[in-house]
Order: sequence, then C-alpha cells, then structure tokens
Amino acid sequence: MTLPHSTQWRTLLQKGDVSSRDLVEESFKKIREFEPKLNAIISHYYEESIELSLKSDRRIKSGDRGAMVGLPIALKDNFNWSGSLMTCGSKILKGFTSHYNATVVDKLLRAGSIPIAKANMDEFAMGSSGEFSAYGPTLNPWDTQRVSGGSSSGSIVSVAAQYVVSSLGSDTGGSVRLPGSFCNVTAMRPTYGILSRYGLTSMASSLDVVGPCASSAFEVGALLSVLVGQDAKDSTSIELPKCESLYPLKPLDLRGIRVGLPREYFTDGIDPSVRKVIEKSIDEFKSMGASMIPISLPHTAYAIDTYYLICVSEVSSNLARFDGIRFGYRTSKSENLIDLIAKTRDEGFGEEAKRRILLGAFCLNQGHVDEYYHRALRARNLITQDFNKAFQEVDFLLTPVSPSVAFPLGSKSKDPAEMYLSDVYSAATSLSGLPCLSIPGGFVQLPNSPVRLPVGIQLIAPALSDVKLLELAHAFQLSNTHHLTQPVL
Ligand code: GLN
Repeated sequence: MTLPHSTQWRTLLQKGDVSSRDLVEESFKKIREFEPKLNAIISHYYEESIELSLKSDRRIKSGDRGAMVGLPIALKDNFNWSGSLMTCGSKILKGFTSHYNATVVDKLLRAGSIPIAKANMDEFAMGSSGEFSAYGPTLNPWDTQRVSGGSSSGSIVSVAAQYVVSSLGSDTGGSVRLPGSFCNVTAMRPTYGILSRYGLTSMASSLDVVGPCASSAFEVGALLSVLVGQDAKDSTSIELPKCESLYPLKPLDLRGIRVGLPREYFTDGIDPSVRKVIEKSIDEFKSMGASMIPISLPHTAYAIDTYYLICVSEVSSNLARFDGIRFGYRTSKSENLIDLIAKTRDEGFGEEAKRRILLGAFCLNQGHVDEYYHRALRARNLITQDFNKAFQEVDFLLTPVSPSVAFPLGSKSKDPAEMYLSDVYSAATSLSGLPCLSIPGGFVQLPNSPVRLPVGIQLIAPALSDVKLLELAHAFQLSNTHHLTQPVL
C-alpha cells in the first residue's frame, strides 16, 4: 500500500479506509527503506506496535474518535517508555531499559497512539545539529550531505520522512524548532510547564519542555490535546486554559491581529537567502489581514550567553547521577569506587557532555557563582521583561528560527562556539518559558544544484497562549502549503 501525505492518515483512519495496523506496517516499511540513509531511529518495536495497533483498531471500530487513537508516533530517546531501551543518545546508557512510563507516554498510550520507535538525538539533548549522538549522526532527508538539526534530530526526521505523522521531541534551547526548520516540519515548544516532564530525562530542568512535532499545526494541536494537564509527579506543571480548543483546531482570523517583528532578529547575521523566505512569509501574513509592527527586544544580544551559562550549570548537576553504579554503562577496570566513577564517566560521556559538565561545575563553584550563574539569572529576567513589554503592543512575534539553512555535515561540529550560535534565535524564548513554534516557511534553492532546502519561521506568543499560537499557524498553513512538500528520498 502506498499512502498519501501523512496529514491525511487521520482522515483515512476515521473513514475506515485504512486500519491502525496498516499505518504501523507502513511506518515500518519506510523505516526499513530509509533508515540506511537517515539514521533517525535508535531502537524500534515492531511486535509491540502491532499489538497496540490491534487494540486501537478495536477502539476505532467501537466508535472511538479520539485525537490520537490509532496513529503511530516516534519518541525521542530521552523519554521513559516502560520495557523499551533508553540511551539518551549516549554510550553511558547503552543497554538501559526503562521500567516506568513518562507521564506524556502514559497519556499517549491511554489515547490509543502507538509508540513505534525511540528516535536518535544529540547526547542528552546537547547539540544543534544531530551529530553528537553516540549512535551516529541523523542525516537531513532534503540533502543527506547536511545535518538534520538537533537535538531532536530523529524525532523530526521521522516526521519529515513520513515514518509517522507526529513525534515527541524535547526543547531546551531550540531542539525541536531548529531541526523542524532544517527539515520542513512543524515543531512546537509549549509554554514551560503545560506538559509534564516526569519521565523525560532532565538536561536543564528550568528550560526543558516536551516538544510536540508533526506534519502540520493541526496535527500538533491534536497531539498536544492528549498531553496537557497538571501532573502531581511534576511540581512545575500547570494547567493550560482553553485546551478543549486544541482538537479539532480552528484557524485564527488574522484580521486585526498585530504581529511584532523584533529588529534584533533581522540583523546582518542572517543569511540573505533565508531572509528572503522570511520576508515573503511576512507578506503572506499581511495579505491575510495581520498588521506587521517593527518592535525592539533590547536584551536579545545576551540570550546566547545567558542560555549557555544556565544550561551548563543545570547540566552539570543533572548529569551527576550517571556514575556507573545505578544506570547503564560501567567501566571494566577500576581500582576503587572513585576511580570507577571517574573512568565510567570519562569513557561513557562524549566530548560535548564532558565540556558542559566541566563548564557547569566551574560556573557553580563558590568563587564563580555570582560572576556567572547569578549574573545569568539577572540577564534572564531582563530578557523576559523585554517580551512582557513587547506583548503589551502586539499579539505575536515573528522571527527566523535559524540564521541559515541546514549546514554541511562536519562544518561546525569541531567548533563549539560556532555550533552554539545556531541557537541565536531560539534561546531567548526558552529562557522566558514562552510558547513558540517553527513552521515551514518556504525553500532556498542552492546555486548550481537541484537541492532545495527548507526554511522555518518562528512564531512566538505570550505565556499560556498556546492554543491561539497554534490557531495562527493553522490559519497560515491553510493558505500556504509549504509543509506539504516532501523530500525526495
Ligand atoms: N542547541 C541547544 C543546546 O545544545 C539546545 C538543545 C536543546 O534544546 N535540547 O543546548
């Protein structure tokens, strides 16, 4: 069976034209065919998926029209799903089996969705390119000589290559939005707290959120609708108001809507070909009735430094638990307990993880904590105040997701500072906990080459306006169908 674009799978399923089992078979057919080229998956679960699909088929037969029932989904390999392997893209967790479900995974299973695979990722979600996985890089389906973007590389590529309609990633400083932009996928960072983080392996806890990714804003809404809700197991979790409007999502009427264009996001740093695509989408928003208003977010220039100082500090604390005693990998030869822990960590963690653990320990050290960590917290406040002020004048913000299209493999992986700059447009919203998403905005044609590369646009909303944000993206996608263009594999 050859299925149409994954945005139509839900309708086919509801009409009874395909079964959930057919969809799962289709997912695995694609995985077998394209994985040798893409490396988006770390482990997959065929038998378990078939079993779950048969259950969902029975639910559909008895009239269940739930938002996610019967639809296959991929999970980033940092979510606990009981009985499955969870590596977090690291050698240090090689062979580790989860023994409980993350709250969001529990919710998916209860909704009748079918987790089929654990997706590749940068080690412990640290990275912007998808190259820092101990299980090899995930390649970009639009051009396999290029990076897919990270850290939720496999979750995004699973959607781009149509293995699944939707997936779960995690976003700390841009990890679903950046690969979403590089691979033409709709990828959301919800308001901090509206999705439980229980069972998502922590990287930087004050920044981490679960990131729903899908082939359209409509599908992101459907996915989000089954995931939201305060959770007693995550004390930072909160309720999302008006969440009943997430599915089925309605388009927002753009007439009278004010969209701010922060001038700090449109400086010379942005690649001219990317800028062209963004400007075209700005015109498209205008033609739909929105007014586009230049504004300023004056502390934007501090976002990257602030993000990385806070991030490494929290990473050094969260990753302390991987000691060779409780989970996963343990060195084969050691003299005593301290030596065992040191060798396990040295052998088990990759370069980037070690770099951040060391930097974080440095920032939190008594002699430096005021100069670095506390100062970063103050800058975080200023960045948040900028957004609060802006949202007194406008309803949304529109910016690029990334200054460039997907870059060639290996071109930034040796230079951490260069890699960190990929997050220049995504870090600030993370620091402020705001909802934002990356939607396909168009393509850049490479000179003297048949290759076209996708460009994402970032839409940002005030905290807890997640529904309205998705309605805005849905309205855009009803008249601009870049998201339906697929890579040729
Ligand atoms: N690229 C950023 C980092 O490496 C963001 C990662 C993420 O969002 N998980 O920290």
